[in-house]
Amino acid sequence: MKITDIKTAQAGGFYIRVFTDEGLTGTGEAVHGGAGCANIIEGIKSMFIGEDPLNIDCLFEKARRARIFDGALAGNFVTALTGIEIALWDLAGKALNIPVYRLLGGKFRDKIRLYADCGRMTEEKAEKVLSMGFNAVKIDIDDASDPNKLDRWNWSITPGELQRMVDQVASARETIGPNIDLAVDMHGRYDTHSGVKVACALEPYNLMWLEEPVPPENVDAMFQVKQSTQTPICAGENLYLRYGFRDLLEKQAVDIIMPDLPKCGGLSEGRKIANIAEVYYIPLAPHNVSGPLGTIASCHVCASVPNFLVLEWHRLSDPNWDRIAITEKPLIQEGYIVLPDGPGLGIELNEDFLRQLTNRGKLFE
Ligand SMILES: [Mg+2]
Repeated sequence: MKITDIKTAQAGGFYIRVFTDEGLTGTGEAVHGGAGCANIIEGIKSMFIGEDPLNIDCLFEKARRARIFDGALAGNFVTALTGIEIALWDLAGKALNIPVYRLLGGKFRDKIRLYADCGRMTEEKAEKVLSMGFNAVKIDIDDASDPNKLDRWNWSITPGELQRMVDQVASARETIGPNIDLAVDMHGRYDTHSGVKVACALEPYNLMWLEEPVPPENVDAMFQVKQSTQTPICAGENLYLRYGFRDLLEKQAVDIIMPDLPKCGGLSEGRKIANIAEVYYIPLAPHNVSGPLGTIASCHVCASVPNFLVLEWHRLSDPNWDRIAITEKPLIQEGYIVLPDGPGLGIELNEDFLRQLTNRGKLFE
């Protein structure tokens, strides 16, 4: 079997399809790439055409190394390759008639635990996620519109801002009760002493983690926050490839890592990152803002490593979530996704719906 073409579709999400001379195709999803990734894929697809689609890691590395001088160390280039990589895993599973998790070494678990990203927590949202059966949630506490802020560029926290954050977390904890896991995101917008102040002030609320209290570029600053507090620190949604996680892990600057698998390198790379984290006893809690396809792709990795903690679900307010892909029953049941057992990723896009959504006759071009 040989690859004959790679096409992309921007339809709510960004999708990538690999075609072969045997008529078999594989489909992947990548995030935070969009039109930039579509252009990159157009520019590199000749490197894939005529190749054996089952040679996934080698094809990925061949294209990455060929474009190092063009920025293939991170960012959009890696995300474009990630989309192809995930499509290739789907294709490989279909060619061999087994689910992707089996190709990744098998599964440690049958269902994948999710946390619901709630953004600003309200009583209504709390009630909704609890009634949906989630046992873990995340809230945002950075707020650019907070009148207590010095200005939108300065990252030092004021006493009023700190108090507002503590009040928000206290209220969320009270609403969900003591037995639900609670993560809190600061989106990497604060300086080191501010990060320390927040992490320490939130210790009474038994957080699952505090996410990116400081920006991600300076691992030593992240380490300083981690060392200062009993609140677990989580970071990594903007890092790429295992090379991007090396410093963070070697210095043990976080308690939990959160690679975004349909963005940072894909399934093979995600598993390698998780394996490196494992030797430092650091759990994996992937960041995830993808649709059903990218989410299920992440699930295959989450199933295949022992140190998986929880996977993000960021589509609480997306009315199309259950229509984007074809599923017999809703994908999420009681806060978990049951790992699909079909060949490949085990999930197909609902192309009729996506065509309707985008008002297009043809999805993949
Ligand atoms: Mg985040």
